[in-house]
Amino acid sequence: MPDLPLIMWVLIAGIFGLLIGSFLNVVILRLPVRLDALWRQEAHDVLGLETSPDPLPPGIVRESSHCPHCKHLLAAYDNIPLFSWLFLRGHCRYCHAPISAQYPLVELLTAILSAIVVWKFGLTWTALAGLFLTWSLIALSGIDFRTQLLPDQITLPLLWAGLLLSLCHLFTEPKTAILGAVIGYISLWSVYWLFKFLTGKEGMGFGDFKLLSALGAWMGPLSILPIVLLSSLVGAMTGVTLIVMRRHSREIPIPFGPFLAMAGWIWFMGGDWLQHCYLTLFGMG
Ligand SMILES: [Zn+2]
Repeated sequence: MPDLPLIMWVLIAGIFGLLIGSFLNVVILRLPVRLDALWRQEAHDVLGLETSPDPLPPGIVRESSHCPHCKHLLAAYDNIPLFSWLFLRGHCRYCHAPISAQYPLVELLTAILSAIVVWKFGLTWTALAGLFLTWSLIALSGIDFRTQLLPDQITLPLLWAGLLLSLCHLFTEPKTAILGAVIGYISLWSVYWLFKFLTGKEGMGFGDFKLLSALGAWMGPLSILPIVLLSSLVGAMTGVTLIVMRRHSREIPIPFGPFLAMAGWIWFMGGDWLQHCYLTLFGMG
C-alpha cells in the first residue's frame, strides 16, 4: 500500500464513493422491480395459473443504463456520477425529460459518508467493514423510501456480516453481537404487536425488525435503545413537519427504515462520543 497521507485516502474514498453511489442507484431502482417479478412468478406457480407470467427483467447490473423516459442508451460521458447530472442540469440529453434528483443525491451522500468512514477509521479492516455497513444502509434507505420495502436480500447478509465480524472482535464480541441481534429484533417486534393490539393498525414492517437486528449484531444490545430513540425522534419530527406542511396525508405511511438506518449509522460512527456528551451533560461523566 503506497504511503499516502490520510487526507489523500479520504479523498480517494470520496471519489470511489461516487462510483459506488452510482451502483447503489441501480440497486435501489432495479432490485425491487426484480423482486416484484419473482414474487409474481412464485404466486403464479403456487396458484397454478394457466397464463404464463411476465418474463423476469434482466440481471440487476446486466441491463445497460438508459433514460427511463425515452429509453435512449446512455453514453459513458452521460454516466459520470454526479457531474453528468450537474452538467446536463438534471435533464436527459436526448429527450430533455427531467432526471430524478435521486441519482446525484445518492452519489453525493455515498461519497461524503465513505470519506467520513475512512477519515475516522483510517486505512484499516475496520474501515472496510464500516464502508460495507454504510453502503448497505444507503441502499436499504433508498429502497424503503421508494417502495416501503426492506429486502431480505440486503438486511439478512448485513445481519450475518455483523455476527461474523464479532468473531474478529472489530466492533463487538460474539456474545454481545448475538444478544444485540436478538434484542434488536424482539424490541421492534413487541412494539409492532402492542401497536397492532391497541390500534388494529400496522405501524411498521418485518423488514424494520430485521434491520434493527442487523444493527444490534454490529453494535451490541446497548446500541438498540439509543438507535430506536434517535430514529423515532427524527421520524416523528419529519412526519409532523410533512403533515403540517400538508405535503403528506396522515393515512400514507412514512417508511421507518431510512430513520433506523440513519440513527444506526450515526451511532456506529459517533456512539462513544454521544454517550460521553450525554453522561457529561447529566454530571455522570
Ligand atoms: Zn431521455
